[in-house]
Amino acid sequence: MTAKIIDGNAIAEQIRLEVADAVKARLAEGKSRPGLATVLVGENPASQSYVRSKRKASAEVGIESFGFELPASATQTEVEDLVTQLNHDPRVHGILVQLPLPPGLDEESVLKLIDIEKDVDGFHPLNIGRLAQKGRDPLFVPCTPNGVMYLLEKNVPRLEGANAVVLGRSNIVGMPVALLLVRANATVTICHSRSQNLPEITRRADILVTAVGRPEMVRGDWVKPGAVVIDVGINRVEDATRPRGYRLVGDVKFDEVKEIAGVLTPVPGGVGPLTIAMLLRNTLRGARLADL
Ligand code: NAP
Repeated sequence: MTAKIIDGNAIAEQIRLEVADAVKARLAEGKSRPGLATVLVGENPASQSYVRSKRKASAEVGIESFGFELPASATQTEVEDLVTQLNHDPRVHGILVQLPLPPGLDEESVLKLIDIEKDVDGFHPLNIGRLAQKGRDPLFVPCTPNGVMYLLEKNVPRLEGANAVVLGRSNIVGMPVALLLVRANATVTICHSRSQNLPEITRRADILVTAVGRPEMVRGDWVKPGAVVIDVGINRVEDATRPRGYRLVGDVKFDEVKEIAGVLTPVPGGVGPLTIAMLLRNTLRGARLADL
């Protein structure tokens, strides 16, 4: 069997077009232009590049972006004052504090301060708490997990009752993905660095989501024939043949798993592009919440 390979770039492009159309329609109705504020603290090159991409993608769909940069030496009070100011700014419908924050800053306090109606990253403890509770709904779902679910809903005929295994339990990917799968009525197993006999567990999965950050850890014989495999990992491995000296690979050994799985996401070009597309959707949602 050769897996169907999901084209995340094409799917993300479709979502961006939908957001752009919705923004145009809002403006034609005399409603506000959605606005996204990005807060970057310090000079982590990866964070700088993520924030640049988010701002560029916002501009392309007609979302106004407001960029704020603070030095790594910024105090907790300075970061929190900025978030408070953005909470009160009516032009801002989404506040994104790029993580990780530099050492010494209390991430949880900052995230907790974001107005829950502007929490487009979905990391406010209230939004995450609601995600975990039956009968409650978060105002925003975190972007990468939301992208994973979008791909699953399009590619799994029936999530209900499916056997899902999530590798990784981080706050930003693994745990929210597992909670979303439970909400979709899948039967979910969460694995982490202390789990035993991983291949035995993953081989039972109809749906396998990998978010461990370990290059090509998941081999062909870890996968049930025909399974849907969503690879969230983005890992750099040295490659002297590339101009930058490295290439990106996922948590899944692509060439092996594509011969076994029914559906597979590539890295790059799989889940990655969905993350920003979901951020744009969440910002549009923030603007709609402000209309109410
Ligand atoms: P993280 O915070 O480092 O969490 C990794 C998780 O994997 C932890 O729960 C850890 O277990 C588990 N783990 C680590 N090694 C393991 C092993 N050998 N066996 C089983 N479990 C293991 O990472 P993250 O932020 O969730 O990111 C995971 C990957 O996704 C990274 O490659 C990251 O670059 C990528 N990512 C991609 C996107 C995107 O847009 N596509 C967004 C975010 C992250 P413990 O809990 O026991 O430590």
